[in-house]
Amino acid sequence: MTKVPVNQIIPISTVDGPGSRTSIFLQKCNIACGYCHNPETQNLCNSCGVCVPQCPEGALSIVNGVVEWNPEKCVNCNTCIRVCPRNASPKIRWMDAPAVMKEVEKNIPFIRGITVSGGECGLYPDFLQELFTLARAKGLTCLCDSNGTVRFSQYPELMKVCDGVMLDVKAWSPDVFRALTRGDNAAVKENLVFLSSCGKLEEVRIVYVEGHVDAEAAICGIAELLGPLTGSTRLLLISFRNNGVRGSFATFSSPTPERMQELANLAASVGFQNIIVK
Ligand code: SF4
Ligand code: SF4
Repeated sequence: MTKVPVNQIIPISTVDGPGSRTSIFLQKCNIACGYCHNPETQNLCNSCGVCVPQCPEGALSIVNGVVEWNPEKCVNCNTCIRVCPRNASPKIRWMDAPAVMKEVEKNIPFIRGITVSGGECGLYPDFLQELFTLARAKGLTCLCDSNGTVRFSQYPELMKVCDGVMLDVKAWSPDVFRALTRGDNAAVKENLVFLSSCGKLEEVRIVYVEGHVDAEAAICGIAELLGPLTGSTRLLLISFRNNGVRGSFATFSSPTPERMQELANLAASVGFQNIIVK
């Protein structure tokens, strides 16, 4: 079984897909969005040791050159995360699918399914396949929350046990996408086509930051790629908020409700019928 770095497991969440779900956040991302709300999930800890003496509870130590976290002593003050120079966290548990499933099972009376997020969950396709296989055997639905830069078409066995992908479209022009994320969005567009064609596009999300996201181009481009499936695809238009954000984006303002409504109106005009503005 594949072990993956787990940042946290939220037993019951109502904001990570339909109904109540257990949300599993994996550590490490392959892009670095300027507006990332969980920047401490972007990288793996390299055991530099900077955070160890800063922990007020003595919950961190270095053993054989590797940082160890003691959850029994930790009070979740997040000092370690604030002082980490590489957008990482020492509070990681390496877990395989049965270990994660053991935690999920405690919530089964109260949840409809599970959602695996990140970081970027698509970096761990073997783990996803193993976990989803176990979860579906318990009657749970299984969703991925993805930045879309890993091609899901390359993992047919995973797709057999994945109920859907909540896909971020962070920008449409490759240049705007690169400026925002330091990555490439060719795979995002391929995923839009692939996931919609096999009925696994759970929803599409655009986080709008004034002047940094080409939302109009994204809305029109998505509709063009989805064609007749546009009307049945849920579109989330999310207003940028700066909580948790680091760097220059932390100083940016949220767009006005009127601007978000303009985007929603455009989406409706190109065929979206299920539009949610958040
Ligand atoms: S959150 Fe980090 S710094 Fe705070 S007690 Fe836990 S390990 Fe220590
Ligand atoms: S969490 Fe960050 S500061 Fe702490 S040891 Fe790892 S890389 Fe260094």
